[in-house]
Amino acid sequence: MAKKIVIIGGGVAGLSAGIYAKLNGFDAEIIEMHSVTGGQCTAWDRKGYRFDYCLHWLVGTRKGPFNDIWRETNVLNDNVEIVDHDVHTKLIAEDGREFVIYTDLARWEEYLCKLVPEDTKKIKKMCGDMKKSAFLQPFSDPPGLRKIGNTIKSGFGMMPVMILFMKYGRKSCEEYFRKLDFKNEDLNFFLNSIFGSRDFSALAFIMMFAWFNQKNAGYLIGGSLPMAQRMTNWYIGLGGILRAKSTVSKIMVEDDTAKGVVLSDGSEIAADYIISAADGHSTIFDMLGGKYIDKKIKNAYEKWELFTPIVQVSFGINKIIESDVPVETWITPGQVIGMTKTGTGYSIMNYCYDPTMAPSGKSVIVIRFDSPWDLWKDLESNDYKNEKLQIEKDARVILEKRYPGISDAIEVCDVATPVTDVSYTGVWKGSYEGFLPSSKNLMDNLNSTLPGLKKFYMAGQWLFPGGGLPPAGQSGKWAVQYICKEEKMMFKAS
Ligand SMILES: Cc1cc2nc3c(=O)[nH]c(=O)nc-3n(C[C@H](O)[C@H](O)[C@H](O)COP(=O)(O)OP(=O)(O)OC[C@H]3O[C@@H](n4cnc5c(N)ncnc54)[C@H](O)[C@@H]3O)c2cc1C
Repeated sequence: MAKKIVIIGGGVAGLSAGIYAKLNGFDAEIIEMHSVTGGQCTAWDRKGYRFDYCLHWLVGTRKGPFNDIWRETNVLNDNVEIVDHDVHTKLIAEDGREFVIYTDLARWEEYLCKLVPEDTKKIKKMCGDMKKSAFLQPFSDPPGLRKIGNTIKSGFGMMPVMILFMKYGRKSCEEYFRKLDFKNEDLNFFLNSIFGSRDFSALAFIMMFAWFNQKNAGYLIGGSLPMAQRMTNWYIGLGGILRAKSTVSKIMVEDDTAKGVVLSDGSEIAADYIISAADGHSTIFDMLGGKYIDKKIKNAYEKWELFTPIVQVSFGINKIIESDVPVETWITPGQVIGMTKTGTGYSIMNYCYDPTMAPSGKSVIVIRFDSPWDLWKDLESNDYKNEKLQIEKDARVILEKRYPGISDAIEVCDVATPVTDVSYTGVWKGSYEGFLPSSKNLMDNLNSTLPGLKKFYMAGQWLFPGGGLPPAGQSGKWAVQYICKEEKMMFKAS
């Protein structure tokens, strides 16, 4: 008889775990509290418009171990069209100064050197660091299951990048830019505006550009929802069971061995193995009552900084609005939108590059800004409704400023808040990507196992500071690799 794996959560990590569980002959059941799968990787439809929540770039669209995962889980197939943007973001200051971040490093270097010739040497050094980090290859197999030969081979391949690890692994972007010591004030201003005053890892910043430069972090036409649907269809096609609209409230444990789950309606589901791909905090501290933790886990959940939640205001517009860049970030620190005083400012995303987002002749434009969880966590229902109305009002003004005359063409406006995210996915404090990758944690991933608990694995963004779709997909695969090892089975990826 095939052994049964119960997977808590049908986000990208849970779907990945389910697919690999089925590919390896297990019975698999995903329990998802929402009516649709995808978790953070989602979108919603309003009056013919699609408002996407997640996907802007997917590491692994071209090559490498993440690409293998996306192909094995049907995220990528021959019918999926990939767009590699030329521009990552355009930053715009309050006085109208503009600064472009290109995805091609040679082009960005040339642009920067022309813009601030006095810093040519330092610009070349920064872009050189970014190019070098292309040598960094994620491991295919999880810690403990890597073949020595592969580890040595990867180690040699990554030699050039080791220096970067040593130099910048424990540095923030702010320290990195300070060390580069650009003379030009505008350059310092724009670079430091990207992450504001947060302790964002310099290495994570540097590596991001290597992926773009290799055209290995593209956008998938259709966006997040079809991506999650392709995974779901593949999982169900392989015989996986999906129990939607069902919330796990407790993980049953006997003799420090996970035995099954209890749902919020009190029903129990027995399992030989459990993989929790749900929110990390609620898994460890609620479903398991905080019994299986160690110093590292405690420290992470108590001390590591989280991604600040976001508010997303989506507009459906009854005319074509062109844009030469996918994202504009307006640097307006301290601007008030609803009750939020922005840290850095807000972003405007024009989806004109994806024809599936709006009916023909129409456009989707989205405004996003960070909004701390503390503002939202105790908001009463009437105040919440009024806050959404105020945000819509303020966002309309912002949009009109950017695209004068657009207001008359707005057909739909939708406001999604950190509360929306928490109620649909249970994500802790609305932190949509989990732990911020910082100078303190970038190289400190959390383990897939919890200390002292058998037959139980974790998957999902909370294991890896920085979160994102690739670690979610990878951790689902890794959990099944560990289970295959326990069962003395050869792991199969296809
Ligand atoms: C605005 C935004 C933009 C982003 N942009 C990108 C991007 O461009 N590129 C990128 O790589 N990443 C991006 N991300 C991050 C990425 O979406 C997430 O890191 C990733 O989807 C996390 O997947 P996950 O499966 O680990 O967690 P989740 O997506 O949070 O999935 C967890 C699932 O578990 C379910 N669940 C929770 N508790 C329970 C329970 N008790 N019982 C049953 N089910 C439960 C939830 O409903 C959810 O479906 C973005 C995220 C957001 C929100």
